Amino acid sequence: MKKLALHWQIIIGMVTGVLFGALILNFDWGKQFTIDWVKPFGTLFINSLKLIAIPLIVASLVKGVSDLNDISQLSKMGTRTIGIYLITTVIAITVGLLMVNVIEPGGFIDEGTRTDMMESFSGEAGNRIASAAETKERGPLAALVDIIPDNIIGAMSSNGNMLQVIFFVVFFGIGIILIEPEKSKPVKDFFDGLNEVILKMIDLIMLTAPFGVFALLAALVVEAPSADVFLALGAYALTVVLGLGFMLFILYPTAVKLFAGLSYRQFMNGISPAQLLAFSTSSSAATLPVTMERVEEHLGVDKDVSSFVLPVGATINMDGTSLYQGVAAVFIAQVFGNDLTMGDQLAIVLTATLASIGTAAVPGAGILMLVIVLESIGVNPAGIALIFAVDRPLDMIRTSVNVTSDATVALLVGKSLGKIHEPHVKNWDDNYKKE
Ligand code: ASP
Repeated sequence: MKKLALHWQIIIGMVTGVLFGALILNFDWGKQFTIDWVKPFGTLFINSLKLIAIPLIVASLVKGVSDLNDISQLSKMGTRTIGIYLITTVIAITVGLLMVNVIEPGGFIDEGTRTDMMESFSGEAGNRIASAAETKERGPLAALVDIIPDNIIGAMSSNGNMLQVIFFVVFFGIGIILIEPEKSKPVKDFFDGLNEVILKMIDLIMLTAPFGVFALLAALVVEAPSADVFLALGAYALTVVLGLGFMLFILYPTAVKLFAGLSYRQFMNGISPAQLLAFSTSSSAATLPVTMERVEEHLGVDKDVSSFVLPVGATINMDGTSLYQGVAAVFIAQVFGNDLTMGDQLAIVLTATLASIGTAAVPGAGILMLVIVLESIGVNPAGIALIFAVDRPLDMIRTSVNVTSDATVALLVGKSLGKIHEPHVKNWDDNYKKE
């Protein structure tokens, strides 16, 4: 019997999760039941993905880097990756700024709505601002200093230190390239085998994906804020969604078609399980194992490219987040009646690029870094209180954009280095099974 393609399984899980949550809410049956007995299964699913992310990065990146055979290839790949990441981020912010200036969602919020919203979220906004301020207070070179860990086990065990792990592994891989081939062979073989084992573990985890996303979405629906807030913030949310939709459905597939030669359908079918998972988990870090698997097996990017480009991208390349930060900053300024000059808009491009690089790949991180963007243009950071209520759904969509952008760049870098292969899975509507 032909098994249903993975993205359909996930979609069914998502839709039934939303329906289940809506039914529970509608009939007031058991909100607490859902939180106590359904939500934990979603958490289990996310935890198992996160659990596999660091071992996967280590195994596949060691293999990827050591397969390169010479250092100049590595530096070529590194510069291209960072260069293209920066370009896509700046394009994303520009798209966001264009949309928000044309649509002017801030004009839809009147004085009374503004005061109500600020009041109802002020406590939480204060906390967010305090934690963002902590991040900001560190010196100008802090981000650079952070790249080299003083303890690799520490770097692997604490959340959000993916760059440190990447640094160590690339360094380790360089060591392997530079030693005698007969000495490096057993080390490479070990990581090769380890990589296979981990990919198999990801396959196993993905068998539970439909149930995991069911639980995640059911819990999100029962815990969601009331519909009134969505109405008030509709124009703002729509602006963000339109911008993100443009990136997702037009810009990336077009770039992939033009520069990597994959059709719209091949690209979307290949990457869709990762997009859906990003949507359900709101975390690019949790989605990373699946993004890597899809890009290698289904989109045909060589492992030495994908194993470098994707973990780096999950950490620093957040087009969806930067687009959203651009729209949100201008929206808040519009509501507060601050007039933004051209210089302010340029400042947004700069700070949103930096803020998105600094944003952790976890749910809700983008709104925290928004404080820095607001401060750079002299808008009261407490304004984030205005957009709290609709942040989660936007986070879901922007995370899908973040992940799609990483996959796009992996294809572009792979193509430019001649490192694309025939995908192992030729049937694009596959059963999540390798041939
Ligand atoms: N949740 C996003 C991510 O993991 C980050 C954000 O909050 O914008 O990619």
